[in-house]
This record gives sequence, C-alpha cells and structure tokens, in this order.
Amino acid sequence: MISRKKIMLMAMSLMAVSSFAQAKYVFYFIGDGMGAGQRQISEEYKKNVLKKDGKLLLNSLPATAITTTYSADTLITDSAAAGTALATGHKTNNGYIAKDTKGNNLKTLLEIAQDKGMSTGLVTTTRITHATPAVFASHNIDRDDENGIAEDYVKSNVDYFAGGGYRHFAAKGGELSSKRKDGRDLIKEFQDKGYKTFIGEKSTQDFEKWAPKAGEKAFAAFKASHMPYTVDDIQETLPTLKEMTAKGIDLLSQDKDGFFMMVEGGRIDHASHAQDAVGTIYDTLAFDDAIKTAYEFYEKHPQDTLIVVAADHETGGMGLGFGNNYFLKLDELKNVKVSIEDTLQKAYTGNRDEYFKYIAENMGLTTLTSDEKQKIEQAMDLEDKDKDASKNFGGYSPTSIAVAHIISERAGMQWTSYAHTAVQVPLATIGEGADKFVGFKDNTEVAKLIAESMGAKIK
Ligand SMILES: [Zn+2]
Repeated sequence: MISRKKIMLMAMSLMAVSSFAQAKYVFYFIGDGMGAGQRQISEEYKKNVLKKDGKLLLNSLPATAITTTYSADTLITDSAAAGTALATGHKTNNGYIAKDTKGNNLKTLLEIAQDKGMSTGLVTTTRITHATPAVFASHNIDRDDENGIAEDYVKSNVDYFAGGGYRHFAAKGGELSSKRKDGRDLIKEFQDKGYKTFIGEKSTQDFEKWAPKAGEKAFAAFKASHMPYTVDDIQETLPTLKEMTAKGIDLLSQDKDGFFMMVEGGRIDHASHAQDAVGTIYDTLAFDDAIKTAYEFYEKHPQDTLIVVAADHETGGMGLGFGNNYFLKLDELKNVKVSIEDTLQKAYTGNRDEYFKYIAENMGLTTLTSDEKQKIEQAMDLEDKDKDASKNFGGYSPTSIAVAHIISERAGMQWTSYAHTAVQVPLATIGEGADKFVGFKDNTEVAKLIAESMGAKIK
C-alpha cells in the first residue's frame, strides 16, 4: 500500500515538474566558423547540385536569433574566446579556455550539468583537445596547451568523448604517434578510471559494434590529429559526426537524470580558413546530418529536449557573389573531389604537368583559361623558389590557394580572409525553452539561456 506521505511527495514532485519546466536532454551543436554564408551555400548546393529535397535542418528550426561573436580583446574572435562565451556566459581574451581575462576559472555549462547529476558528452570532428570542446571541460590560458587540456579531461568525469587527436593522450615513445612531453599515458589513465577506449582508425569497427550500457564511460579518438574532411572520406571509412553523435545518445540517454552533449562541426572552420568551398559545404552537410540524429531524439522527448545550433564566428569572409554579376554557379563545384588543406596541398611536388593533370581529375579544372593557367604557374614559381612562400597565403601553399580561388571565382564567390571575421552569426533552436532564443543576442546570452533552460543560473 502506498502511504499518504508518499502520495503527497509524488504530487509535490509533479507540481515541481509542471511549474518549472526544464530541459533534461540538452544538445549544444556548434558549427565552428559557420556563418550565414556557410549555411546558405550548403543549402543551395544540396538543393541545386546534389538535387536533394528540402532545407537544411539547421535552417529550419523554429526559434532563431542572431548573435555577436566578438571577444574581450578584439572584434575578431578566435574559437577559444568565442567558445568560452558560448560555454560559460563570459567574454574573455582570444586564446583563453574557460578562464576570465584575469585567469580565473569560469564555470561551464557542462560542469553545471554534472552538478545536476546529468551525464555529459563532447563530440567533434577536430582533435578533442581543440578549443571548442576544450572550453567545456578544461581551463587554460593557452589554447595551444593541448597536452594540458588532455590532462584536464582525464580529471573531468565527462562520460563520453568522441573525435580525433589521440596524439595528446598517447604515451611518448610508444606505438601511437604522440605529442606528449612527459611520461604519462592518458589512454591508460582513462582505462584505469573505467573508461572504454577506442583509439585509432582500427577501432572504428569496435566502436560501431559497441552497444553502450548504462553507466559506461568512453573515450574515442580515431585519428592522431583531426578527423578527415567529409569530402576526403566520402566512403565513411571512419565514424562520421552523425555516428559519433548517435552513439553518444545511446550511451547518455540511459541516465535518468538526463544529459548535456556538445557536438562540434569543427572542420567547417578549417575548410573556410583554406578558402575551400566544397570542403566547407560537405562538412556543413555532415553537421546537419548529426543534428538530424538529435532531432529524432527530440521527436521522442519533445517536452524534455532542447537543441541549440550555434556558431562561434564566421571564417574566411565567404562572399557569395563576386565581381559584377548576379549569379552563383554552384555547378562549378560539383567535380571537386578532395579538400584543399589535407589533400590538394600535397599534390604539387614540382612536376607541373602532373599537377595540371591532378587538378583536372580531382578539382574539375579540365580546361583552364590563359589567365587561370598563368595564376597557377605564378604560384608554382613562388613555391619552387621559396619553401616558406605559404606565409603570404594564410599558411597554405600558393598553388593550392591559386586553385581554390579559381574554383571560387568560377562559382561566383570569393573570400576576404584566411582567418575569422567579425560578422554576426545565426543561431537556431527547438525544444524546451527555445522560445527565449530569439532576437539579437550577445554570444554570452546563449550560455545564460541554456543554463536557465537547465534550471540553473549564470551570474
Ligand atoms: Zn578558425
């Protein structure tokens, strides 16, 4: 028999739920470098070139806002400062990871979730120690101290990590490539703490077969550095962002207290740094696919789920329009088969005929105007003469940038920067509390609203 007292308690807890609705399952998607241009070109490419139906899900969520991106010390933020704003609700200097401008630790949304007993996860296509995931579960005044960030992760109690970058965890001098300077083996330290680990490309199958059980923890890093660009792994030989997100849901949703999961489309940014239109598009589409997985979960738990799709900043100054014309010709992009940064950049070895053959086969440049050919040859001259010629091209090889610009101009677009830009970026949300994410917002407000949706407060 149920006692009177128990009935009273049950009634009280029901009242608490109805009067303080809270998001129990929080998805925080961050498209690194994903400005309005990146969102638009990806949608147009999907519709007009891939001939697939419908809008991107990230352009379809009902509650939308525009957010600022600037940091405490400059109008053009980096991912560390912008991520810190999105993760903690505080502005900081470029390069700082969840620290204020004086170097004090800032409490992150992930840590707030842990305080509430929720499970937590970090998923990305970059090294897992890169700035955007780092701002949720580590504190450091130097984003480049990825070894230190990795050490913070071991102490973090985050239930699920998935992405690239095992080189900051693997022991120095072992079989795996390592960037560690000390004698620590953080993979073993994770295992000693009870984590299942999936390390390297060979662990892909084990990861895919893994059926997570309640209470398990996992650390997965499939590459020494970043995961491949989507366009470079179109066969999906490694886990996709969607697969890593889905596995995270399988694991974390078994916690009756709910979960907080950050999922980063991290290489949208890298592609735009390299002026790589197709790389940007494919990684944005892959990001959208990952959001779909969360959306399916939302449809099963609409009262308890919040999905926020944010960007930390825009990258590259992607301009959709070039010269004096009113047309984008995205069909010009359809025969590009490889990324600029990871693949095309390795293609020029000094043999010019071979390179022209390569870009005909892999970049869709089967014929070149004399002007285009001259641009590439000038880049070859530079590259042949000076091994450091890339310093004037954002760190990329002159030949690959020449090709990237020719492809972009053919498509009717261009870029203004090898770095980030200061423009505002779109935000889209759905679910519990989403109606508050509307209007012009500072990036710090996004974190504050998410905390509010979780029933917490950021000062
Ligand atoms: Zn960047």
